[in-house]
Amino acid sequence: MNVLVVNCGSSSLKFQLINSETEAVAAKGLCERIGLDGRLVYQPTGGEKEVTEAAMPTHTEAIKMVLDALVNPNTGVLKSLDEVEAIGHRVLHGGAKISDSCIINDEVISVIEECCDLGPLHNPANLMGIRACMELMPGKPNVAVFDTAFHQTMPEKAYMYAIPYEYYDKYKVRKYGFHGTSHRFVSKETIKFLGLDPDNSKVIVAHLGNGSSISAVVNGKCVDTSMGLTPLEGLVMGTRSGDLDPAVLDFICKKENIDVTEMVNILNKKSGLLGLSKGLSSDFRDLNEAREQGNEDAKRAVDCLCYRIIKYIGSYVAAMNGVDAIAFTGGIGENAIPVREAVVKSLGYLGITLDEEANQTRGENKIISTPDSKVTVAIVPTNEELAICQETAELVSK
Ligand code: ADP
Repeated sequence: MNVLVVNCGSSSLKFQLINSETEAVAAKGLCERIGLDGRLVYQPTGGEKEVTEAAMPTHTEAIKMVLDALVNPNTGVLKSLDEVEAIGHRVLHGGAKISDSCIINDEVISVIEECCDLGPLHNPANLMGIRACMELMPGKPNVAVFDTAFHQTMPEKAYMYAIPYEYYDKYKVRKYGFHGTSHRFVSKETIKFLGLDPDNSKVIVAHLGNGSSISAVVNGKCVDTSMGLTPLEGLVMGTRSGDLDPAVLDFICKKENIDVTEMVNILNKKSGLLGLSKGLSSDFRDLNEAREQGNEDAKRAVDCLCYRIIKYIGSYVAAMNGVDAIAFTGGIGENAIPVREAVVKSLGYLGITLDEEANQTRGENKIISTPDSKVTVAIVPTNEELAICQETAELVSK
């Protein structure tokens, strides 16, 4: 089945056309600067990358340009749009009502709308993408694959914040977790790759990219994850602080004479690796290069990143009362050899030894712990687009 996978941000849209049976990507690309001047980057597999500048006032025009590119007689990969059998949309927030992917109908749209409060940057954009596809390809099934859904199996003790219960009652303030599509995909792949028993397995997935999160997965079900009400909680990320004492907000707001909204913006956009490195970079590669040249600011940032990962892994081993496998994924998890080295070398207490040679691998399934280690550590690349394609095809063929 040909599935168009769509991931809408507030001013951008990424897409891939994937065949769910062969897993082959026919074409992919992105629209940028939607609402401004507009730019489509389109790449058919095996073909040249094409860049088209054109006005895209809304996501509807952007999707229209993508569809036109897919059926373009010269560089397109489809004869007609009839060959697109379903559309899979990445949707950020499904709140507490949605615990699985679903075929989009009025009710699902209402839930995505209700959750705009919880995902103010993403949910409205996701909705625009959904509405544009419905308008331009009437009658085709659209599926929503939620970033929060996989984490809905967390028990109450893991998702509740210890604040007055009325805030949960009134506003559903709790931990939701994100990157769920990746955590689901990678935990499943890890079980398959390592030959674990799906019904008797404890896996920790460390999804480390610009945004990073860790999850604890027992028998294929998430029992805890590091992101919270929003993607700000948890690990040290590219520009996000992750965990901190909430009183820091009030303290800095008073000292700097700024309001909470501005402070949260600082925690989201100017903190993490960027903040810790005194503004040097939010990108791991830049920091690693600087660190290797002796830059102390870069070293501090990378040390804090690794230390937080080590602490979370320890807490999830405790939460699950053991662990069978730890998987590294995402841009940093799949590629950053020094991060994996620092983290795995701190797991000696679990009977884990790093296989230094295997750890030189990038971007492919690979066991990086020695065969005599008591817990297996592996690189397991994520593929969120393929996961969305598969979930879409599965739902549509039911
Ligand atoms: P996003 O959360 O935006 O999807 P990615 O998963 O693409 O992010 O991860 C981006 C991070 O991965 C960046 O910090 C980048 O430096 C790091 N990264 C990507 N490739 C490499 C590499 N070859 N070596 C080290 N780090 C890498």
